Amino acid sequence: MIPTETFSDCVTADAPLCEEKMRVCQNDCIAENVSVRGDGTLLFAGQDVTELAARYGTPLYLMDEHQIRWRCRQYRTTLEDAFGTRCRVLYASKAASFKRLYEIMAEEGLGVDVVSAGEIETAKRAGFPLGQALFHSNNKTDFDISFAMDAGVGCFVADNLEELYAVEREAASRGAVQDVLLRLTPGIDPHTYAAVSTGKVDSKFGFAIETGQAQEAVRETLSLPHLRLRGFHCHVGSQVFSADVYIEAADVMLGFIAGVQAKYGFIAEVLDLGGGFGVRYTADQPVLDIPARIAELAAHLKKEARTLGISLPEIWLEPGRSIVADAGMTLYTVGTVKRIPGYKTYVSVDGGMTDNIRTALYGAKYTILPAGDLFAPRDEICSVVGRCCESGDILQENVPLPSSTGRGDVLACLTTGAYHYSMASNYNRIPRPPVVMLRNGDSYIAVRRETVDDLVRLDN
Ligand SMILES: *Cc1c(COP(=O)(O)O)cnc(C)c1O
Repeated sequence: MIPTETFSDCVTADAPLCEEKMRVCQNDCIAENVSVRGDGTLLFAGQDVTELAARYGTPLYLMDEHQIRWRCRQYRTTLEDAFGTRCRVLYASKAASFKRLYEIMAEEGLGVDVVSAGEIETAKRAGFPLGQALFHSNNKTDFDISFAMDAGVGCFVADNLEELYAVEREAASRGAVQDVLLRLTPGIDPHTYAAVSTGKVDSKFGFAIETGQAQEAVRETLSLPHLRLRGFHCHVGSQVFSADVYIEAADVMLGFIAGVQAKYGFIAEVLDLGGGFGVRYTADQPVLDIPARIAELAAHLKKEARTLGISLPEIWLEPGRSIVADAGMTLYTVGTVKRIPGYKTYVSVDGGMTDNIRTALYGAKYTILPAGDLFAPRDEICSVVGRCCESGDILQENVPLPSSTGRGDVLACLTTGAYHYSMASNYNRIPRPPVVMLRNGDSYIAVRRETVDDLVRLDN
């Protein structure tokens, strides 16, 4: 992971200095695509980020196309090694949704999860084959349902009875039969942030197995003539590192599948275990070996199905964060530095909660680096804050930075590919940053920067 070739000059340079440089690298280069040039400049996907900041302006979202594709392939080959053709990877596009990403997913042979007419339309305009899309959401409006059917979305994930009836009505009015999965809550607590934990019984999502509502939903779905029940879905939460959580969820789901097979003679074709694999935001978080975790899960699923005497359904996974997070980086330019003696040093940048709401929303941790010189001693602990009129607009507390940091310096926030652009807002009428993709040593604009004209476009 450490780009040692960068330090070929170390052979002749003085050894202690090189050791220090290597240490810096080890701490800062938390993903394969992050490295440091011999002069201390931060590189992303091998490109000088200070040059990219100068060329495209800041704040700036960067995305490494190669990394996205590599993650897609890793999921596909791991699942195919375990299950042959009886598997599917669907990218949960709420993590980052814009046309270019749907093109990449189509090229990589992934399906996608969509949760709104907006995501469906974006995928459609990218030419994504919507038969490979799965429609989620705990409250699909009648408009959404009809929009999705018009667009030919392949499968709906029904969240509640109300919605099953609404989908049935719409399908009936078209003389169509709609494929559905039922979203179930297996009653698993993944012990991550409460805001991203979704698999517990007490959740706004899905039919609870524990209360009998899930079984009742199966009976009801089987009685509706314009729905074709294909199987079951669960999603335990996000930023999950423990494989046990998936194994527990798999056991509950397979037990349920065996139960409804015995009771109703219904054979599930699909078991969708959702997304949620964790990613590394800071050096003290582990690197999750996703292929190894999936291989363990696969072995367990096969064994458990045999024990229960059922045939294993097709296994679907819906990774979002783990496909795009470490393919992303955000660049900012420092504006003011404010020192309050005895208290804190505030370093204000030209972005903030408008491009990264995760810190304000659930105290998310990040690695923020002085992009121009990673080898300068970071001798001051700073709060890196945004430019919005909110005290909670903090990108990160306790960031070590050089005390020389000042106006015009570029800061880089790592691992921002997931839930950043897709959660960006126009609070304070701040235009959203562009998304610039990095590919083969080159770069191109996937989403252009919003302008102030864009902001007033909808006002009457
Ligand atoms: C958010 C979500 C995902 C993706 O979760 P990640 O943590 O980004 O992998 C998958 N499935 C469903 C239903 C979701 O809501």
